[in-house]
Amino acid sequence: MSVAAPPALPWRLGVAVSAPAHSGITAPLSYLAASAVPPGSLVRVPLGKRDVPGIVWACAPADASPAPEYAERPVREVLAALPPLDAHWRALIAFTARYYHSALGEVALAALPPALRTLDAAKLDGSMKRLEKRAQKLGSTAPPAPEAPPQPSAEQSAALEAIAQQQAGVFLLFGVTGSGKTEVYMRAVQRALEADAKAQALVLVPEINLTPQLAERFTRRFEPLLGTGSVAVLHSGLTPAQRLAAWARAHTSAARIVLGTRVAVLTPMPHLALIAVDEEHDASYKQQEGARYSARDLAIWRAHHARVPIILGSATPSLESWHASTPAPDGPGRYQRLQLPQRASGSALPAVRRVDMRRVPRGTVIAPPLLEAIRACVRAGQQALLLLNRRGWAAALHCNDCGWSSECPHCSAWRAFHKSDRTLRCHHCGLAQPVPRACPECGNPDIGTGTLGTEQLEERIAAALAEVQRPDGEAARVLRIDADSTRGVGQLDAHLAAVHSGDVDVLVGTQMIAKGHDFRRVALVAAINPDAALLSSDFRAPERLLALLMQAAGRAGRAESETPAQMWVQTTMPQHPLFAALARHDWAGFAAQQLDERRAAALPPYTHLALLRADAKTQEAAHAFLTAAARAAGEALQGSPAAAHITWSPPVPLPVQRVANVERAQLLVESRARPALAAALAAAETQLRALRPQHRAVIRWAIDVDPLGV
Ligand code: ADP
Ligand code: ZN
Ligand code: ZN
Repeated sequence: MSVAAPPALPWRLGVAVSAPAHSGITAPLSYLAASAVPPGSLVRVPLGKRDVPGIVWACAPADASPAPEYAERPVREVLAALPPLDAHWRALIAFTARYYHSALGEVALAALPPALRTLDAAKLDGSMKRLEKRAQKLGSTAPPAPEAPPQPSAEQSAALEAIAQQQAGVFLLFGVTGSGKTEVYMRAVQRALEADAKAQALVLVPEINLTPQLAERFTRRFEPLLGTGSVAVLHSGLTPAQRLAAWARAHTSAARIVLGTRVAVLTPMPHLALIAVDEEHDASYKQQEGARYSARDLAIWRAHHARVPIILGSATPSLESWHASTPAPDGPGRYQRLQLPQRASGSALPAVRRVDMRRVPRGTVIAPPLLEAIRACVRAGQQALLLLNRRGWAAALHCNDCGWSSECPHCSAWRAFHKSDRTLRCHHCGLAQPVPRACPECGNPDIGTGTLGTEQLEERIAAALAEVQRPDGEAARVLRIDADSTRGVGQLDAHLAAVHSGDVDVLVGTQMIAKGHDFRRVALVAAINPDAALLSSDFRAPERLLALLMQAAGRAGRAESETPAQMWVQTTMPQHPLFAALARHDWAGFAAQQLDERRAAALPPYTHLALLRADAKTQEAAHAFLTAAARAAGEALQGSPAAAHITWSPPVPLPVQRVANVERAQLLVESRARPALAAALAAAETQLRALRPQHRAVIRWAIDVDPLGV
C-alpha cells in the first residue's frame, strides 16, 4: 500500500497586501507556505507580475481550510528578523479598515514605516542588526542629568489621582493654556511606566515641528529615568531610516515612550499602558488623504481595546469630546472631565479688547489704538504677536477697469500675490507665474489687491514701527512665520529660536504661531482679520475660530509679569457671541451654546456624518457617479432596519470645486445611529466599486467617515 507524499506546501496563509484600488481586493489573499508562519509576520508575496510586501493575517493547515477560487501561489519569503505584529495591533488595523471603509491591506501597509515596504529578508536582517548595535551603543551613553520636576498643584494632583484610580477609561483634561497639562501627561506616564518595567506610553501631539520644545521636555524628563533612547519620536518629517529606527524601537519594546504625530497612533506597542493626546481638538489629527482616519478617535478605540487609560487634553476641547464628558441627567458622562482652571505660573489670562473696524477709515490694516499698544509693547521690551490666517501679500489681484482677476486657470480659486518673489501663486495646485506689470486683459497698469496677507502685514507693521526703539536703543525687529518663510530646512527652528531669544519684537504669522509655543515674553496678541472665518459655511467654523483665538491668546502673558497681557481682536462684529466668549475666556459657555444649536440642527455630535467623494473630469460626471451609487446603495438597504435611519443628500461641488483641472464633488450621508451609518456606507462602498468601471470620467472616489470640512 502506498502512502501519498505530504504536499510540499502544507500551510495556507491569509496575507494582507496593498492592492491597487481598481483591483477590488479588500480582504487578505491566500498563499501557500512550507511551514507555519505566525500571524503578524511580514512576508513578501507575488501579486500579478510584482513582488509586494504583505502581513500574515491567518495561518492554517492547507488541508483543513477552504481553498480560494484562484490558484494559490507560494509565499516568496518570510521577513523573520521582525517579530510578528501582535494581536492588539492587528485588531486596531482591522477596526480602522472597517470603520473608515478602507481596504485592510491598504491600512496595514500604510501603517508601516515606508522603508519596511521595500526591504527583502536579507536587507531587513542587516537593518535590524545595525539598529540593534546602534541601540546598544546609545543605551551605554549617559543620559542627561535629571532635573527636578515642579511640585504638582492641587488641581494637577487631583487630576492625577482620578486617573490613577481607574484602570482604564477616557479622561478629558480641560485646562486653560499654560495650566500644566503637559506636566499631568508626564506624571501620568511616569506612574504607568513605574508600575511595570516593560510598560509603554503613547503621547500624540498635533505637529511636532511646531513645538520641538515638547519632545525636548519629554527627553529631558524621561531619559535620565529610563535610559538614553527610551523616548522615540515619530512623525512624517523623519528620513526613512530614522522612521524605521523609531518604529522598530517601539515595536521591540526598546522605546518606553512614543511621542508622535497622527501617524504614530498606528505604531505597534506590545506593552501599551497609557495614551495621552495633546490638543485633542486639533484638526491635524484627521488624515485627509488616502486612508482617512482620525488619530484621536483611533487612540480612544485603542485605549479601550487595550484596557488602558487615555488622557485627552485641551484648553478648547472638540465639541464631540465636550459632549461625551458632559454629565447626563441619569449619570456621569462617558468621559471623565478633569479641570485645570488656573495657569501654572499664576498669571492671568490676557484681557481681551475688541476694536470695532466699522469705526476706522476704510482700508485701515491696524487700528490706531492697537498700533499704539504694539508700539508701547516694543518700547517696554516685550513681544507682540500678530495673527493673520492668510499668507502672501494679498489674496488676489483685480483690475478695476475690465474686471480681470488673478484666477487660477486650473482651479476655481484666486492666485495669491506673493511680493517676495513677485509671483502669482495658487495655494491649491501650486501654479506660480510672474506677476504681470499691467492688467493682462486691458493693459491698465493700476491693478488693485484683494484681502491682505502676512507678507503685506509684515511690511506695514515694520514701516509703522520705523521710529520705535527697544529699551536697548535698537530698532524694532519684525519677523514673519508662515508656510512661505519656513520652507527651507531648519528655517522654522531658526525663526522660533529668534523669538525665544528675544531677537524679535513683533511676530507676524498664520495659525502656525498660535499653537502650543511656550513664548515667555509675549505680552500682546492681536487677531488682525478674524471675521473672514465667520463667513464660512462649515458648521465647525465658529468652533475652530474660537479655538484658534483662545490658543493665540494663550501665547500671551505666560511668564509672571507686572502688566497684564492683552489680546486684541479687530472685527466688524464686536458683539458677536464668539468674541464675547473669547473676552470671558469661556469655552464652557460657548460649547454649551454651540451644542444647543447642533442639537437643534441635527448636527454632530447628535448625528453622524460621512461623505462619498468623487473626483472626475467634469462636475456632471462626479455627480452622476455619486447619485448612482447612493441610489443603488439605498435600494440595496431597503427592508433592512438601517434604511429608515439614513438620509442621502444630493451631491454638491466642494467649496473649491476644481483643483488642478479635476472637478470635485461630495454627497453627504447622515444618520443618528452609528450601526445604520456603517451599514449604509458598506452598501455604498460596494456600489462605488461596482459602478466605477461604467463611469469612465471618474478619476477616483473615497469615503470620508466623520469628515471635518462639510
Ligand atoms: P499646558 O500644557 O497646559 O499649556 P504646560 O504643561 O506647558 O501647560 O505648563 C506651562 C508652564 O508651567 C511650563 O513652563 C511648565 O513647566 C510650568 N508648570 C507646569 N506645572 C507646574 C507646577 N505645578 N508648578 C510650577 N510650574 C509648572
Ligand atoms: Zn483690465
Ligand atoms: Zn490652481
